[in-house]
Amino acid sequence: MRLFFAIWPPSEAAATLHGWALAVQRSCGGRVTRAETIHLTLAFLGEVEEEHLPDLKSMSAKGKPHVLPIEQSRFWAHNRIVWAGPCETPEILKSLAENLHEELKAKEFRMESGKFVSHVTLIRKARDPGPLPALPAVEWPVNEFVLVRSQLSASGSRYEVLQRFPLS
Ligand code: ATP
Ligand code: MG
Repeated sequence: MRLFFAIWPPSEAAATLHGWALAVQRSCGGRVTRAETIHLTLAFLGEVEEEHLPDLKSMSAKGKPHVLPIEQSRFWAHNRIVWAGPCETPEILKSLAENLHEELKAKEFRMESGKFVSHVTLIRKARDPGPLPALPAVEWPVNEFVLVRSQLSASGSRYEVLQRFPLS
């Protein structure tokens, strides 16, 4: 199973971000993330044997509810994505991601480590869009994180939430 941990926006926030991405796509092409699949990845596990699923569903990593500021948009040439996200990762989100990574390491899941840069991918396979238009106001309260299964297919990946982890 291809698995990852993520946070999901409320549908209104997702619709707003999706609308912005559709406008940007006119200048850079690529594939716009569908509104219902917009998310922020906290930890990517990749292929995991099904027998390890209980270890993941019982994660105890803690975090506090907060708000995710959507303040900047960027184009990354190295992987050709357009994304939106905070200017600086909020401390609360950073520690949630760190707690998760620590617990996953302790449970001996192999993680592609690297610095956690909070970003929400909105367009894939984009050309350089040049200066990006201003982002609309987006309200993204973070009250839980989720364990998600990703099933890749020709028509785009399909996600299934396997477990929810409330923050308190
Ligand atoms: P597609 O691959 O069809 O474009 P996707 O990237 O959304 O769709 P996945 O590849 O399953 O689907 O990735 C799920 C999430 O994990 C995405 O947020 C993706 O950016 C992230 N991700 C994928 N591969 C890695 C990786 N090697 N390291 C870190 N994050 C990754
Ligand atoms: Mg991918």
